[in-house]
Amino acid sequence: MTARSEEPRALIRRPSHLAAFGGPPAVPRDATPARWPVVGDAERRSVTTVLDGGHLVSNTDVATEVDQLEREWAQRCGTAHCVGVSNGTAALELILDALGVGPGSEVIVPALSFIATAMAPLNLGAVPVFADVDPHTFNLSPEDTAARVTPRTAAIVPVHLHGQPADMGGLTALAQRHGVPLVEDAAQAHGAAIGDRRAGSLGNAAAFSLQYTKNLPTCGEGGLITTDDPDLARHVGMARQFGEELVLGAPRTYRSHIRGGNAKLNPVQAAFTLAQLTRFDAYREQRERNVTAFLSRLSALPGLQVPRAVPGTTHAWHILRFRFHPGPAVGAPEVDPDRFRASLHRLLRAEGVPMSRYQVMPLPDQPVFVGADDGSDSEHPDTRAVIADSLTLQKRHLDPASGPLLQHYAGAFEKVWEHLDTALRMARAR
Ligand SMILES: *Cc1c(COP(=O)(O)O)cnc(C)c1O
Repeated sequence: MTARSEEPRALIRRPSHLAAFGGPPAVPRDATPARWPVVGDAERRSVTTVLDGGHLVSNTDVATEVDQLEREWAQRCGTAHCVGVSNGTAALELILDALGVGPGSEVIVPALSFIATAMAPLNLGAVPVFADVDPHTFNLSPEDTAARVTPRTAAIVPVHLHGQPADMGGLTALAQRHGVPLVEDAAQAHGAAIGDRRAGSLGNAAAFSLQYTKNLPTCGEGGLITTDDPDLARHVGMARQFGEELVLGAPRTYRSHIRGGNAKLNPVQAAFTLAQLTRFDAYREQRERNVTAFLSRLSALPGLQVPRAVPGTTHAWHILRFRFHPGPAVGAPEVDPDRFRASLHRLLRAEGVPMSRYQVMPLPDQPVFVGADDGSDSEHPDTRAVIADSLTLQKRHLDPASGPLLQHYAGAFEKVWEHLDTALRMARAR
């Protein structure tokens, strides 16, 4: 039989129309590139003001931009304290250290996160214990977390991954049952909330990153710790400055009361972030509109799982993660999801959509951790599935002016979806 060659021509879509095969890309080459962070006169003024006469470090006896940022961020999060530190990883380490995490402790972290979440306990000599994530929110599963609690569990670190708050209701109940503190990794979740309670105020303490790709950036690296616990705030405030206690208006005593290093935020970086903070709400609202319009267009495409804010929560939309399911809706359940994702990656990138992978393996598979967990392939099945069948959009949607760019991206998705047969053929051939 020669059924293939007898297919009517009109039914065979020309793959050459796809940019991957030489067609014109769906995203115009001159589409306004989105910038992040957006740097304007306010940032330049803030930074040069510090350079021209402010204090270049925060360990002075007068208030600096660091103190002002700490005050404003605590107020926004609704916490009693905020402590500026050198970066988000240092924030996690300082919090865990203050909670007594060290050799002999276990700290439960999600198997899907940035490496720093699990590196922080390891750097303190503790063992990271990896729990699986929810397949829709990508956040720590309270059920799988519960199964991993032991008498050595010293903390649980939910990550509000991509800006979606973790299931803090379920995790708080679990943590209270075992008398274990909850530390939010809020590095991706500035402005996220559950009801009217902001990320940063949902656990015993929270770590934020100000690294320049985050939703509240500085011009480089920085971090913030929020907490209602005065002892924890005092401890991390000393540990960031060689264990010394600095008092505004009083001279430095050079007395080290506790173990500590140098993990301070500096006034130049705080000044930049203060300028960003004046536009933070406006940016967040515009981003919400841009992303909602983008996702609502994409939600019509079969086999595409678009991110959705859990009802009752505010998503910060730091990263947009899409899962691709070749199963029922697409009608190709035999196609390997990993290969389907790889084919779509190639086609979408060719159209001009800068999709990328966020985490190429579960954290417990990272060479540094192999041996800390049992690392077997059957562990953390949801994390494995998400990594195999999803791609992310990072940074491009953060600029409030990215609305039109996202509409071009939606057009590119729709074009690729018209050629889904090509994507499936590529996946089968791989
Ligand atoms: C960025 C990030 C960190 C680390 O923050 P740095 O400021 O880069 O050290 C920690 N956890 C998560 C989830 C992050 O995205």
